[in-house]
Amino acid sequence: MIELPDVERMIDAFAGYATGKTVSAVLIDNEESVDIDPELTEEKIRGHAIDSVERHGRYVVVRFRSGANLVFHMGSEGRIFLESQTTPPDDDSRIRLQFAAGRELRYAAPGDQGEIHLVDGEDFSGLGTFERLGLDPLSDDFTAEVFVGLAGTKPRVSLKSVLMDQEIVAGIGNEYADEICFQAGYRPDLKIADMSIEQLGRVHTYLKRVLRRATLHWQAAHADPGWLINRRSPGKTCPRCSSKLKSMSVSGRKTYLCPRCQRTA
Ligand SMILES: [Zn+2]
Repeated sequence: MIELPDVERMIDAFAGYATGKTVSAVLIDNEESVDIDPELTEEKIRGHAIDSVERHGRYVVVRFRSGANLVFHMGSEGRIFLESQTTPPDDDSRIRLQFAAGRELRYAAPGDQGEIHLVDGEDFSGLGTFERLGLDPLSDDFTAEVFVGLAGTKPRVSLKSVLMDQEIVAGIGNEYADEICFQAGYRPDLKIADMSIEQLGRVHTYLKRVLRRATLHWQAAHADPGWLINRRSPGKTCPRCSSKLKSMSVSGRKTYLCPRCQRTA
């Protein structure tokens, strides 16, 4: 499943190349899944340069100098990447933005996943989750105080559900939610009401630490013997105490934890 560090890596791979470049053609591979106004595309995208690329949670926003924005939701398996125009698009391809130099920016997502919107100007209302999206966990605005305050509005909910609630924190999915709980030393099914402000503050510290590391040093993090993320399969043991990991369902998602290292409160 795509999570914030994955989206950050995708952006890193194309933003430097695409920023400042003019889109010479817009090719739509799957008419049904791409809901963008053709006239507006002609007027504000084709023949216009990309101004910047931003990430909000699992959304990628490609801003154009014309003032229009293309908003891509990665869903759980969406991809946005550069490819040569001579490589035929695969079945999941939705849209391709071509540049004069022979490369193109492709957006692909399987089945009914992913979304793409064309927004003229800064009014992002009507984009569903995007509009209600919580703070980006890597932003400076996402302080411990803010996190503790937001978590406090959901006392009956489990720690893991709060971490995965896109309206509280944008971009954390199943695997990183488990990693954050493991690194912080709390059970994912612990109810917010049973946690102190200090404990939630500790979760906030590890939330930032885990996501920053996964974003900046993805390969090292995913090869780290101290991380739970590399042991998410039946029969594996805890990287710290070697106890057998437990798997259970928390908010409907497959969850891994160490019953010894992760405390109830
Ligand atoms: Zn353990």
